[in-house]
Amino acid sequence: MKVRFWGVRGGVPTPGAGHARFGGNTSCISVESDSGELLILDAGTGLRLLGNQLLQRAPQGGLEATILFSHLHWDHIQGIPFFKPLFNPRNTFRFMGQDTKDLTFQRSLEVQQASSFFPVDLEYMSARKSFHSLTEGTFQQGPFSIQARRLNHPGGCLGFRIQVGEACLVYATDTEHIVEGPDPVIVDLARHADLLIFDTNYTPEEYRQGRVGWGHSTWEHAILNARAAGVRRLVMFHHDQDHDDVAMDAIERAAHQHCGNCFAAREGMVLQLQERKDAEGARELEILLPEGGRLSHNLSAVSAS
Ligand SMILES: [Zn+2]
Ligand SMILES: [Zn+2]
Repeated sequence: MKVRFWGVRGGVPTPGAGHARFGGNTSCISVESDSGELLILDAGTGLRLLGNQLLQRAPQGGLEATILFSHLHWDHIQGIPFFKPLFNPRNTFRFMGQDTKDLTFQRSLEVQQASSFFPVDLEYMSARKSFHSLTEGTFQQGPFSIQARRLNHPGGCLGFRIQVGEACLVYATDTEHIVEGPDPVIVDLARHADLLIFDTNYTPEEYRQGRVGWGHSTWEHAILNARAAGVRRLVMFHHDQDHDDVAMDAIERAAHQHCGNCFAAREGMVLQLQERKDAEGARELEILLPEGGRLSHNLSAVSAS
């Protein structure tokens, strides 16, 4: 399973030199199975970059992918109008997400591209498209076994546990930690996962000073849940628009003092989960950093460092 971060930011894109190292595009992650099937998690502005890469891979079309939406806030949908593979009738995309209080899932995406807001209708994007409204539950999509659970976020949000063979990834962004102790929903969803990608939008100080009820969590909440669920690596995600690279370094350092097995997502980062060929058949996580570095970890459960 190969996981690539195309956008790691929450709220709004953050261009500019001060945010360049961690990246300025909003939420979008691609998950590719070893057999090449593609699952896309959210369609924030990072989706544009993924689209450009897919065009290089298949300029004539023939692409097929599922786009799974946690929810439909701007930072999770604004890449769609700029996703060039959607303009090729030989490509096929399956859109899956929640209905909102007022609109079906499909209608919500159509409204984003209504003429008051954007010059090109979703209907005009000529790829074969299907729309599927999701609720909590489990389903199979190609090689991906997916479990969806409701998270705690204004307007609703879904978290996903995604399993391919032995490899397991949990995507739980845009969720506020409101319980004392570990969150039973997250612990259940993420139990013994290889990777937990979790909403760490605020620092603990910011959260306590006026962000309660805004629908996001902190690195302290993330570590609490990751440890209770016994996940192997924690990835901090959905970085606040006002956290520049200096602030992100400080957040990652602070989290590391409590948990050695966590790191902050960076735009362009690639995580490769692979079975090692030794006698134990241990799983290994190779992390390719956008700056060109490479880390290799034998996966073990998140623990105090
Ligand atoms: Zn968001
Ligand atoms: Zn949101």
